[in-house]
Order: sequence, then structure tokens, then C-alpha cells
Amino acid sequence: MSQSNNLLGSNINLVKSHNLRAILLSLLHDGQVSRVELAEKLSLSSTTITNLTAELLDQGIIVEEHIEITEKRRSVGRPRRMLQLVPSARFAIGVHIGVGLFRVAVTNLFAEILFSKIENFDFSTSPEEVIAAIIGVIEHLLKENNIDRERVIGVGVGASGLVNYKKGINVLAPRLGWENVPIQHLMEVHLDLPVCVDNNVRAMALAEALFGVGRGVGILAFVYGRIGVGSGIVVNGHVFRGSGAGAGEIGHTTIIPRGGDTCTCGNTGCLETLLSEPIWIREAENLAEEYPNSLIAAYLNENDERSTIEKIFAAARNGDEHIQQFIEDRSCYLGIALANLVNVLNPELIILGGMFAQGSDLIAPIAEAKMREAAFAGLGQTVQLETTSFGWRAGITGAAALALTTFFYQQTETI
Ligand SMILES: [Zn+2]
Repeated sequence: MSQSNNLLGSNINLVKSHNLRAILLSLLHDGQVSRVELAEKLSLSSTTITNLTAELLDQGIIVEEHIEITEKRRSVGRPRRMLQLVPSARFAIGVHIGVGLFRVAVTNLFAEILFSKIENFDFSTSPEEVIAAIIGVIEHLLKENNIDRERVIGVGVGASGLVNYKKGINVLAPRLGWENVPIQHLMEVHLDLPVCVDNNVRAMALAEALFGVGRGVGILAFVYGRIGVGSGIVVNGHVFRGSGAGAGEIGHTTIIPRGGDTCTCGNTGCLETLLSEPIWIREAENLAEEYPNSLIAAYLNENDERSTIEKIFAAARNGDEHIQQFIEDRSCYLGIALANLVNVLNPELIILGGMFAQGSDLIAPIAEAKMREAAFAGLGQTVQLETTSFGWRAGITGAAALALTTFFYQQTETI
């Protein structure tokens, strides 16, 4: 199945489809909009707007509300008919493939999660088996929740590493050992739904631009740290992927020119060798061994439900000076990486996700100060730094946003 428009379940022509999507995107951005406003904003005739909105009303995708607008100096209210999206009219499916786990979610048209499921897989599992398991979970969620497949606009998959969005191929995921996995094809042959695939951090950036803290922002970057470190860039609502699908790979920029640790990519001294969660855990364990009476040693030895990275942040918050110093040093490196990003991209907004958001009270102030100090000619002064709107849901929300953009709100890529 190609990435054709299945918005209305029929073979509609491209111009019409383009106009329909422009209307949907306007309604998403602006909430309630009148036909007159739509015609003005989209430079379409009122007849075209009337016809297209009639079709969307008929499909139940939008509703019309009569709103009393009381203007100043007018004692009598003037009723206006405003249009708005019905978020539950259609569904999207988001799939986040992480390292050793995947999450699947069914969302509404606002990428709000309605149902979700998480499953682990071990590294001996083949990519084909993982994809088969994902398909099984999708089928299960649809069946269990009585979701009519006709109302599902498509599936978005956020995968780790290098992803060719146009071909739907996970070109390289070093942490999983995956090479040239045709995720889109493997899923579409078994699911009667269109599928699109992109890098998972890029998908998170898109979710912020459409539904999160990045709404209305022209240029934004999402910087994510967990098992690896990466970034996603969105320019005027469009994901910037680069010429070879590699834009935003800041985790593999060299920070330590000589003597740095070896990275999973094969180089040494990459940013990722300083800032990823496994590295922080290893360093915290070293500190615990060196200072056996410290808070970090005590926390790491405790057998509770907290993850190791949570224990590390808790030790710093509760006064462990060694772990505080470590986090401060590493946050400085993050600040340098952000300053480099600012110099290349000059974004309005940078959003931190993953462990950078989880420990943002400790990490962000240091990283922000360094970014503002190190960026060129005051560029660092104007950029805004925020944490993700979606917490642990960033991955699946991003994947759903990818499906919603590809199959519902946008017609073509312009960058
Ligand atoms: Zn690397």
C-alpha cells in the first residue's frame, strides 16, 4: 500500500486532498474557525470552502457550532458559525521502537493516547520477529477496543538510528544491530493500513511542533538523551531530515578530540559517550565504589522500584556532592552541544527530552548557562529552552504525530 490519501476513504484528487488537509491543519492550529476566516487564510473561494467543509461535516471529522459573538459597542450578539475538529472522529497508531522495548498507542486526532501497550524484546530477536510482535499488539489493541479499521488513518513508527522516511527503511540502528530493515513494507503487507517510518527523536520533535510546547514556533530542535543522544529539527511545521536522512545526529559530534571513549558508531569521543544513560550509570557505580559511605552508594544498593537513573538524580537532589559535581560537568558538555546547535540552526526553541527532562532541575540550569555563554554573538540569548510536554509518552506521541502529519494534516513536504 502506498502512502496515498485515505482520509475520506476514496480516491480524491490531489488538489482537493491538498485543500482538505490545509483546512484540517488550520482547524488544528486555530481551534474554532469560521468559513470566512478559512477562505481568507487559505486563499480559497468561499464556494470551495463551503463544498470541502460540507464533505468534512458529512464525514463527522468536523462539527459546526453557533457561537454568540458580542462585539464591544454592540448590545446585540451576532451569531457566527464556527467549525472545529472532532478529535475522536479518526484514530492514529503510534509505534515507538526503543532499545529492547516497543510501545504501541492508539491516539485521537490530537495525538492524545487512548490505549497503549508496552512489550520488551531481547537482542537475539530478529527484526522480522519484533515487527511481527508489533503487528500482533496493534491487532490486539484494535480488536480489544472495538476500533473500526476504516477510522484509523494510518500507523507512524519511530525507530532508532538512521531512518529513510521516503522508503520506510531503518537503515542503521547500531544499538539493535539492525541494518536496512524495511519496516514500512513488513508492516503494510500484514496490516491493511498505510505505514510511515522516521527516526524516533525526529518524531518527538514533530509532536512538540504540532501538539506541544512548540506549537506556532518556526524553528525548533528537540534534544533527547537516553540510551543514545540525538536531536530532531522542525522548520515551519516540517521535519528537516537532511540529504541523507541524517540531520540532527548531534550524539555523534566529536566533543573529546583525543582519548575519548569508543562510541557505538565506531568513533571516539562522541557527545553520546559523555551523556548517555548507560555511561551515567557506569560513572555513578564507579563513584559508589570509590565512596562507599556516600548517598549514591546507598541508593544504588537499595532494592526498590526506582530506576538507576532516578536514583542518580535523587542522590544529587539530596546532597551527594560527588554525583552533583559529575552531573554539573556533564551538563556543561550538553550546554556546549546546545550552543553548537544554536550556531548552526539559530532556533527559537530547544526542547529537552528523555533523561535530560527527567533530571532537568539538575541539568537544564547548567546546560542553559553554558549554551548562552558559548553560542556566537548573543544567539544563545534569544533561544528558549524547555522540557518536553509529553514526558515518557514523547516516543509514542511522536510516532502518532508522524502518522497524523503524513496521512491526515499535510500533503507534501516543502523542505
Ligand atoms: Zn558516535
